[in-house]
Amino acid sequence: MNDMYPELEDYIFNYCSSFWTPEEGKAWKTYNVQVNAGSSESVRNRAVEMGWISQDPAVLALLADGYPAFRSNVARRIWTEHRDELELNYCSSCRKIARTPLAKQCRFCGHDWH
Ligand SMILES: [Zn+2]
Repeated sequence: MNDMYPELEDYIFNYCSSFWTPEEGKAWKTYNVQVNAGSSESVRNRAVEMGWISQDPAVLALLADGYPAFRSNVARRIWTEHRDELELNYCSSCRKIARTPLAKQCRFCGHDWH
């Protein structure tokens, strides 16, 4: 199971955030605050003032290619650097990743381990 696939990327991004770097955490927050601020200039300015929207070039560079690329890059970095440390909920039948850490049914093959 060395090959990355979209469901594994999603799982690692969503459930392995303890392996995020501080910059990745700030990038995630920056993205979400920007989405929530929408087109409101005053909300945006306030968020920058509060430090919720990062001005750090290293953080902004992580988002330069868009949010989907950011998610994918974070997941792939974690996979490359921490593969052996990750607690991944694999299906015992087909060895693909479950939907969540607590899932007990495989979305790929339907195997059920309740
Ligand atoms: Zn399965």
